Amino acid sequence: MLAKTIDWQGMAPHTRNAQRPTLLPAPTPSGGEQLTPRQIASFRRALMAWYRAQARTLPWRGIHDPYRTWVSEIMLQQTRVAAVIERYNEFISRFPTVVALALASEQQVLAAWSGLGYYRRARLLHRAAQFLLAEREGQLPTTAAALRTLPGVGLYTSAAIASIAFGEPVAVVDGNVERVLLRVTGQAETPAAVQSRQLAELAQQLIPARWGNPAGDGRDNPPGNHNQAMMELGATLCLPRAPLCAACPVHSLCRTRGEHQTTPRAALRSKSAAYLLRLRKRGAMTEVLLYRRPADASLMAGMLELPPLHPEAVAEREPTLRLRHAITQTNYYVGIYAPRTMRDPALARALQGNRDALAWFATSRLSQLPLTGLARKALRRLGVMSIGEVVLEADKPAGTRHAQVSRLQLGWEEEDFLDEL
Ligand code: SF4
Repeated sequence: MLAKTIDWQGMAPHTRNAQRPTLLPAPTPSGGEQLTPRQIASFRRALMAWYRAQARTLPWRGIHDPYRTWVSEIMLQQTRVAAVIERYNEFISRFPTVVALALASEQQVLAAWSGLGYYRRARLLHRAAQFLLAEREGQLPTTAAALRTLPGVGLYTSAAIASIAFGEPVAVVDGNVERVLLRVTGQAETPAAVQSRQLAELAQQLIPARWGNPAGDGRDNPPGNHNQAMMELGATLCLPRAPLCAACPVHSLCRTRGEHQTTPRAALRSKSAAYLLRLRKRGAMTEVLLYRRPADASLMAGMLELPPLHPEAVAEREPTLRLRHAITQTNYYVGIYAPRTMRDPALARALQGNRDALAWFATSRLSQLPLTGLARKALRRLGVMSIGEVVLEADKPAGTRHAQVSRLQLGWEEEDFLDEL
């Protein structure tokens, strides 16, 4: 039950040079907030005016296609917008409809998802598409409650799809929206579930109550537009560490204006990892040795990566490529090692994992394979993936040799290499 009224109007005006901590009202203890109709109207008006003028142009905005909205919302879970843009367009061109996605193989879906991480999302999306094709003639349910029956669709995603694609007045509450609401209302952040419930109720008060009509240019969809505006505000202005309050459309309604205690983030862990880069020539084709992760691996099961090496076994070597790769709370400092000579038994002995999981793949097919994000990044940086077909040093005219590929020893036969294991 929401009881208190938030005193937004009684705040001292904010200026950049003011003694902000003393001018700001004390944060209200969490325990229920009730907005007045005037506050709600002011908030919505200011937010929507800003959104119409400033919203980023994104490939999944301004369309009326529930399938595309669904795909984009699944991709955006815990993933940066810039990374999603890159994969979304390609994914949609490969699987333009629910039917196309349902009829694809899991390997094809994982390949199109490669680089986005959290591959369970891709598997659940695929499974949901197969369910929709078998049970609902390929049509998505139109309410948040019904959408939640699909694999991989929870509270946040169902609200986003239902409001944006079907106009349902149901509020989205993701991490960005929670942060905006906490700051606007001046509540201290706590890990308590009760706070999440209260924020969800606040978000629901703010969303326009009537159903929208997402057809046409989308302007007649107040619930969907409001949700997108809230998420946009959190993603572009009300940033976790340094909010851009001077540009904020709800600045005059905000209690904290950036002076807000947030829970410190968990410190990132660091780990080192090492991988083998091994290429060979087969006629006109160049192949790369890859390792298939076990089907029961807790992360990235069944995906392909460069063969992992024991880091301590290559500690004294200079890698062909160094890179950093972050996965959730861990920073991986990665070295990619190519053989020094045609036969390099020490490197072969440094291999980890099951030898049966190693296989050669044509570099020209790499973009169609379910590669891990790290493998894709490394192969791109090394020029193996973007070139598609690596030209052997001996085949190249003098002076045109690729700087990184020139360090690799090609032509080492599979048998030679595996014999060293
Ligand atoms: S004024 Fe600052 S802290 Fe308040 S909602 Fe806007 S960006 Fe966030």
